[in-house]
Order: sequence, then C-alpha cells, then structure tokens
Amino acid sequence: MPGTLASTPLSEIEIQARLTGLLSDLDIFSQRQIGYPTNQTYDFSSLLPFLAYSINNVGDPFHASNYWSNTHAFEREVISRFADLMRIDAGDAWGYVTSGGTEGNMYGLYLARELFPNAMFYFSEETHYSVLKNVRVLNARHIMIRRQDNGEIDYDDLRDMIRVNRDLPVVIMANVGTTMRGAVDDIPRLREILTDLAITNSYIHADAALSGMILPFVNDPQPYGFDAGIDSVSVSGHKMIGAPLPCGVVLTRRPYVERVGRAIEYVGVQDTTLSGSRSAFAPLLLWHAMARLGDAGFRRLVAGALETAEYAVGQFNERGIPAWRHRNSVTVVFPRPAPEVFRKWQMAPEAEITHVITMPHVTHEMIDELVDDCAS
Ligand SMILES: *Cc1c(COP(=O)(O)O)cnc(C)c1O
Repeated sequence: MPGTLASTPLSEIEIQARLTGLLSDLDIFSQRQIGYPTNQTYDFSSLLPFLAYSINNVGDPFHASNYWSNTHAFEREVISRFADLMRIDAGDAWGYVTSGGTEGNMYGLYLARELFPNAMFYFSEETHYSVLKNVRVLNARHIMIRRQDNGEIDYDDLRDMIRVNRDLPVVIMANVGTTMRGAVDDIPRLREILTDLAITNSYIHADAALSGMILPFVNDPQPYGFDAGIDSVSVSGHKMIGAPLPCGVVLTRRPYVERVGRAIEYVGVQDTTLSGSRSAFAPLLLWHAMARLGDAGFRRLVAGALETAEYAVGQFNERGIPAWRHRNSVTVVFPRPAPEVFRKWQMAPEAEITHVITMPHVTHEMIDELVDDCAS
C-alpha cells in the first residue's frame, strides 16, 4: 500500500497497515537473500528493552564521557575481543564500533593520511567502491592498480607504480576478501615489495569487511592480521556476525590514534572517532553475538557457511556451470544468469559475472533451486 507522509497525523490503523505491509515484504525478500553477505541467523530479542533508552556512545570509548547513558564498557569488551581475533595485543590496540565497513575504511585511511600527509594511496580496481569515495573525501593522491583475474591485486603493477613514486610515503589499501570475488591480497608479499623498494614510510590498511570474521575461525587462514603487517583493519558487523542494523569495527595501533588525537585537540576537538554521536545499540549487538557464540560458535558458523559454498560450487559444476571460489571464501563466483533469475535472487552484478554468498542462513535447498534456475 503506497502512501505519502502528510502534515496531518495518520491514524493508528493506517500506521499499522503501512508497517504490516513492509513487514510482509521483508519476510518475502529475506527468503531469497543469497547475493549479499548479511547473516540473518540471529536472535537479539533480549536487547529490545534497550530501544526505550536514549543511549549514545559519543566520543572515544576508552575515555570518560559526560553522557552517562552509554555502552562504552561493552564497546571496549568488543574491541578487546577483536584485538585477539586480529592478532594484536589488546593493550596495544585501539578501536571503536563504527556505522559499518565504509566508516572503518575511512578511519584507517584518515589515520594513514594524518601520519603521512603527502603519501600516495594505492588500491586495486577490485576494491570496494567506498574506498575511491574515501580517498576523494580525504583529497589523497591515489593510483588504482590492476587486478588479476582472480581478484587479487596485480603485484607487478603495484611494484612498478610504487617504484616510480619512490620519494613518497606509501599507503596501501589491501583487500582481505573482495566484495565480488572474495579475493585476499597477499599482505606479506605487499610488505616484501615495500622492503625491496626500501620504502621507509608506509601504512597498510586492510578492508576485511566480510572475511575479517571468517579467517580467524579457519585452520589455515591467509595472513590477515596485525602479525602479518597491517596497521589498521575495518570489519563489518552486519555481515558475518549479522545484525539488524549496519555496524562494524575499526581497529588500529594505539600510538597512531594518540598522534591524531593531539592533532584534533589542536583545533579544539577532543574526540578520536569520525562520527560524533554514535550508536550505543550496535556495540550491544556485537557484544551479545560474541558473548552467545564464543569462538567455538563462530567456528561452527563459519565451517557451515564454507561447507555450503563448497556444495554450491559442486552443484554448479555438475550442471556444467563454471563456478569457483577462493580458499576460505563463502563467495561463489559464476557467470551472470538470465535477467529473470538474476532478479529473483537479488544478486549483485559485475559485468559478466555474479556471485552467491553462502551466509549461514543460506540452505542447500536454496542453492539447489538457484542452480536449477541457472541451468534451465
Ligand atoms: C561490504 C563491504 C564494504 C562496505 O561495508 P559497509 O558495511 O557496507 O559500509 C567494504 N569493503 C568490502 C570488501 C565489502 O564487502
């Protein structure tokens, strides 16, 4: 039932009718959610009472706030867990719960720019669209690097570009699971290139929107953490963890933020986060999911999703469709099907390919139906 919000109040019946209509649409849409990486297997009903409070996490979660109705304590616990997962000592780490992966990328690149104001920024053409926007907002000089067919950055192109700009500090935006192909850039190899070219000032930000909550829970992860040489990382909360509202986590090394903190103080602003008022509900969602599942729960969740991905590749291939996926990836890439199939399943296109992302709510039955649709 379409409507227009008028200046006069709607009746309670009209309001209920509109909301009920929206709910039933959402119920239908969610049964075909296979193209975007949003885990829908969660139950946050115990958090509903918190919607009755004007909670706000404004400011740095590690500093006192004058706004006492906050969830900073829960946020710090979430950050500390993420530090473990991203392989940095919690005492050396700093971070906060963001509005999503985009803000986390923005924050990492912002820190890099503050540390190295005249740096050249490098990222592959496979990179999420948010990054080009971010470097534009930061007015940072940047060079887009070719990608390989599998979605990884082209290391030779990167090396060549850095070599001709050897006088400039280097900021690399590395992908830990690209959006379209689930590709992971080889972070030790990126570090090697920097060492080979004797680059002394460098910074690597990792965009780990989806895979940041996959790789910590597999037995043979590609290098992804601070131990592999990253300086900051952004992970989405509403992707692998799953949440009814967009959120994420950004994590970096504490000394970097202390430097930026001073820089901000100088212009009279005290806080270290990008947004001022921040969701106090999002940290509760992440805390609740982590408290309920623990590492063992996430291992089960991730193992199940990877098993479904392997199943999907098998079913596609059996029907003669050349589907493939990276190791430790739930992103199954295959040729773009007919428009009606494409529309039915809410898929994400890129030229001649598309993908299914086997998040925990995606069942074998859904895969069977999709493969049938694509093969017929
Ligand atoms: C989804 C995604 C983002 C953006 O995350 P949001 O939470 O939607 O802002 C960034 N990078 C990659 C690789 C993604 O898949």
